Amino acid sequence: MRFIEPHGHMVSRTTDDYLAMAMAGCQAVCEPAFWAGFDRSSVDGFYDYFRQLTDYEPKRAAKFGLTHYCWLCLNPKEAEDVKLAEEVIGIIPKFLDRPSVLGIGEIGLNKNSRNELAVFEKHVDLAARHGQLILIHTPHLEDKLKGTRLIIDALKADGRVAPGRVIIDHVEEHTIQLVLEAGFWAGMTLYPESKCTAARAADMVEMYGSDRLWMNSACDWGVSVPLAVPRAALEMRLRGHSAKAVDALIYGNPARFLSQSKNFAEKL
Ligand SMILES: [Zn+2]
Repeated sequence: MRFIEPHGHMVSRTTDDYLAMAMAGCQAVCEPAFWAGFDRSSVDGFYDYFRQLTDYEPKRAAKFGLTHYCWLCLNPKEAEDVKLAEEVIGIIPKFLDRPSVLGIGEIGLNKNSRNELAVFEKHVDLAARHGQLILIHTPHLEDKLKGTRLIIDALKADGRVAPGRVIIDHVEEHTIQLVLEAGFWAGMTLYPESKCTAARAADMVEMYGSDRLWMNSACDWGVSVPLAVPRAALEMRLRGHSAKAVDALIYGNPARFLSQSKNFAEKL
């Protein structure tokens, strides 16, 4: 089995996790910029985090034969401070020409507030001006449907980034159709407690097809499982999906979407 982990917050994981992922067939891991578990106190905190994502973490992953990529942004959880967000967006272009950067993400909404939406739109503008791919976080639980609608409306209103260059992550049964019908890619996040189980993910593949869909573990410092993607692949094989179809979903699809970034295509 081979797979790409398209969404893992590896700075919070151990070397044992890297080893287990490599042994399970992981070919590359992609790390969106995220909340640290606490709000950073200044733009300098983000500067150092971006250095960690673009410089140190690829070296740590390489010790296990894994290619490490990243996405850059100020995440929605810290977007209430619009002035700080503007400062962070101001330093991101300095990092965009680093060889492992895939685009802007994970941006989006957390509580669907006015400030979060304003900062989301500033990130979309940044991506459009620099020709970057976009990875989007959608809110959890009862805020998810409303947040997904707000995000799609904002992207359509801007209109500069083609839907095929945007992945909207953490979809569930009540948002996947909305995302796919609008032409975007959809990401299913496999979590042991919330979001999506392996069985629910397999159900969604069977209902909506797998053309513009990927699966990820979104592993971070919380309760999460770095091997969730191969676990879901096993679930699909047990249901009778062919090895070829599973390979297309867990390796081919992320490779196809991410190859729109020259940094990914060059190393594939
Ligand atoms: Zn994430």
